[in-house]
Amino acid sequence: MRSRSANRSGIVLRRRVTPAGDIIVTLLTPQGKVKAIARGGVRGALSSRLNLFHHVAVQVYQTPQADLATVQQAVLEGALPRLAEPERYAFAHLMAELADALFQEGEFSEQAFELFAGALRGVSHQPDPEWVALVMSYKLLGLAGFVMQTARCARCGTANPEHPDPLGGQLLCAACASLPAYPPESLDFLRSVVRRSVRASMESPVPHDQRPALWRALERFVTVQVGNVQSWRQLVPTGAAGEQAVIPAR
Ligand SMILES: [Zn+2]
Repeated sequence: MRSRSANRSGIVLRRRVTPAGDIIVTLLTPQGKVKAIARGGVRGALSSRLNLFHHVAVQVYQTPQADLATVQQAVLEGALPRLAEPERYAFAHLMAELADALFQEGEFSEQAFELFAGALRGVSHQPDPEWVALVMSYKLLGLAGFVMQTARCARCGTANPEHPDPLGGQLLCAACASLPAYPPESLDFLRSVVRRSVRASMESPVPHDQRPALWRALERFVTVQVGNVQSWRQLVPTGAAGEQAVIPAR
């Protein structure tokens, strides 16, 4: 590999400041995920540009010796100031961690970038950011190839399961289940969210009292299917985390 410089435009998914004052950022771009370091960045103009969820154009320089590309320049292309509102921030952070876990460095995915950018805009602008985050989480999972099996019981294969699967986050039949069946709105959501357009899903939100169970299912599904999502799990709304204690070890 030769030394080379490249221009990329993407959204900051993750930002970490090292004790030396360097900023390590992960960007999701239409050409895939890019990880780079802004040396001494915390003390310069790059610091405010390389903020979480900012859309930035960066010039990065990669040498064969360094494992991380270096950020040489960064220009702010777009920001969503409302994401600073605490409840919106929490959902945006959750989506960013999920996208970081789902998409790999160097893996070209314009669709992933568009979907994630749309998710952030939705969390920023929509009156119901929690619903945006639930819908878009399942859409991102679907795009990455993780689709919940809803036609058959996850344990025995019986058709048309309707009950929560507390271990795997999928669906169980009445015979395998220990929990009551999902209400019809939740069942409809789980069965069709991946195929349905975002717009259609946004128009038929699941009632608030049903959402904790959907978060629990999402948390289980991602943990089992995607793995290595410790930081993501801490961001899942409470109610989901609380149940982990009572799930028996397999
Ligand atoms: Zn079953």
